[in-house]
Amino acid sequence: MKIVIHGGAGVINKDNLSETQIAEYHQVLKQALETGYGLLKQGKPAIDAVESAVKVMEDSPLFNAGRGSVFTAENTIETDAAIMDGSTLECGAVAAVQGVKNPVSLARKVMEQSPHVLLGGKGAEAFARKHNIAFEPQEYFYTDKRKEQLEKAKQKNQLNLDHSDDKYGTVGAVAIDQNGNLAAATSTGGMTNKQFGRIGDSPLIGAGTYANDLVAVSCTGIGELFIKNVVAYDVAAQMKYLGVTAKEAAEKIIFETMPQGSGGLIAIDKNGNIAMPFNTKGMFRGYADNEETKTFIWE
Ligand code: ASP
Repeated sequence: MKIVIHGGAGVINKDNLSETQIAEYHQVLKQALETGYGLLKQGKPAIDAVESAVKVMEDSPLFNAGRGSVFTAENTIETDAAIMDGSTLECGAVAAVQGVKNPVSLARKVMEQSPHVLLGGKGAEAFARKHNIAFEPQEYFYTDKRKEQLEKAKQKNQLNLDHSDDKYGTVGAVAIDQNGNLAAATSTGGMTNKQFGRIGDSPLIGAGTYANDLVAVSCTGIGELFIKNVVAYDVAAQMKYLGVTAKEAAEKIIFETMPQGSGGLIAIDKNGNIAMPFNTKGMFRGYADNEETKTFIWE
C-alpha cells in the first residue's frame, strides 16, 4: 500500500516563500498523505484514498484547487477535476464548474451515478445539485493571493500559461491499495487569467489523469501541452507496449518529450514503485507507505 500526491509544479521561488509558508505547505501535504494512507491502512480501496487526499488539498487555500483556485480573466473561478479507478477503468470528470466545494467528489459522483465520463459547466452543476454535492459562495474561494496574481497577470497581459511567478498548485494523488488496485485523481482551478470556459488537461482522461492495472498517473503543468502530448496515457502506453518501468516511462515523457518548464507528474505502478519527475523549478509532492511519510518542494 502506498500513496503519492502532488500540489502542483512550477516556478516555485524559494525567495518568495517564508519559512512559515514553507512549513504550511509541508503540513497540508502531510495531512493529505496521512488522510489517504490512513484509509488504505483500514483496508479501503485506492479510489477512496486518492479522493480523500485530494479533498484535503482542495480544502486548503494554499493550493490551486477547490478553495484556493485561481481566477479566470473574468474574475470567476472555474474548476476541473477527474478520478479514475485502475482496476475497472471506471472514471468520472468535471470541467469548468463553479461553486463546487470539492470538485473531485463531484467527479466521483459522475463516475458512479451517471452513464457519462465528463460533465461540463452548467450541466455538471445541475448534476451536482441533484446529488446533494456541497456548494460554497464565491467568498469561500476568494483569496487575496489569487486576486493579486490575476492583477499581475492582467497588467502583463499574460495568460500565465508559461508557469511564471506563483503559477502552481494543481493537486493530484495516485495510490495502490491492499488488493493491488490502482487509482488516480487530479483537481485544479486551471491557469490564472484563463479565458472563461477554458478546460485544461486535469479532467481529460489520458491527458492529465489516468489509471489502469499497470499504473496510475496524475499530471500538473501547462495543460495545453499535457493535452497535446497525452502525457498520462503516454506513461501507461510505454509500460504496456515497451515493457519499461513507471520511472523510465515517466522520466522519458517529462524530460525528453515535454519542453523544459512545462510541468511534472506522479506515478505509481502495480508493484508500488513510484516516480515524481518534474522539469520545473519545483513541485509540491510527497508519498506515504508503511515505512515513511515524506514531503518535498524542490530537490
Ligand atoms: N495542468 C493545469 C491546467 O492546465 C494547471 C497546473 O497543473 O498547474 O489546468
